[in-house]
Amino acid sequence: AIRLSQMTGWVSFTLMGIYANVGEIEDGIRTITPAHTLLDAPGAAPLEVSEGRIEFRDVGFAYGRESGGVEHIALDIRPGEKVGIVGASGAGKSTMVALLLRLYDAEKGGIFIDGQKVSEVTQESLRRQIGMVTQETAMFNRSALDNIRYGRPDATMEDVIAAAEKAEAHEFILGLQDHMGREGYEAHLGERGVKLSGGQRQRIALARAILKDAPILVLDEATSALDSEVEASIQSALERVMAGKTVLAVAHRLSTLSEMDRIIVLDHGHIVEQGTHDALLAQDGLYARYWNRQSGGFVNPEAEEAAE
Ligand code: ATP
Repeated sequence: AIRLSQMTGWVSFTLMGIYANVGEIEDGIRTITPAHTLLDAPGAAPLEVSEGRIEFRDVGFAYGRESGGVEHIALDIRPGEKVGIVGASGAGKSTMVALLLRLYDAEKGGIFIDGQKVSEVTQESLRRQIGMVTQETAMFNRSALDNIRYGRPDATMEDVIAAAEKAEAHEFILGLQDHMGREGYEAHLGERGVKLSGGQRQRIALARAILKDAPILVLDEATSALDSEVEASIQSALERVMAGKTVLAVAHRLSTLSEMDRIIVLDHGHIVEQGTHDALLAQDGLYARYWNRQSGGFVNPEAEEAAE
């Protein structure tokens, strides 16, 4: 069990590293070579999102011969539908997200956005149309302004402030001061700047996503607890960001799960249950078991492993 948790810790860390690289390339602030590079298919066309339908057509992917991945994932996410993914540590949640972002290519089947295969469109266009909100979102050693504008490099100061207000980030940004004495939107973030709390990082990530206004949103919710006031403000900001968009969310909190039109439960790389939060509880299967073991939130991976 220890070995497994160490490995999945490393795996998530690695994935987050790749996310950061993707973003950096996308906005041209800095260029960092990703851990691995997938090339655009010859003659790849830009992705055109008309409705925002996402289809996983019998998708299979393995990291190696012995290691995990996902198998036979069939999922049709309707335009504007909000789908939550839950499952124990190592079930394949991050893998599904990574495949949608084309950090890896599916080995079997394919993932389609409005009928276009993600491996056959340009990666730049794919990532431009997908907004990401994760707690581990990298902050650059730049001003809060630049860190938000990163969602849309040509945004004006007014646009940035409007997005920060919607993300409930404006007030705390005004109170920032870095060690060089720069204040508010000019205060530098990142390793050498102001240290932000998990909730603050999440709100900067939300502001970025609001500014980016992509038709598809990927949410990777933190397992860690936030204080209830912060959680409530993030929740209302999230609802605003999700409105009208197709959402794929790795979700843990009831407040998020109950907003989802559908929850899919992954186990060892397979979809084993799906439905709304209430329907899944009534079904009294895996979801209900996880949920009841951890009242008030979903699957603490470590607790799940320790119990085994
Ligand atoms: P967690 O909740 O811990 O983040 P998860 O449900 O997101 O877990 P994945 O990260 O998708 O799970 O991992 C699915 C399986 O694939 C696991 O068995 C994991 O060990 C394996 N795996 C994930 N990434 C890699 C990798 N880069 N190399 C090798 N195996 C990997």
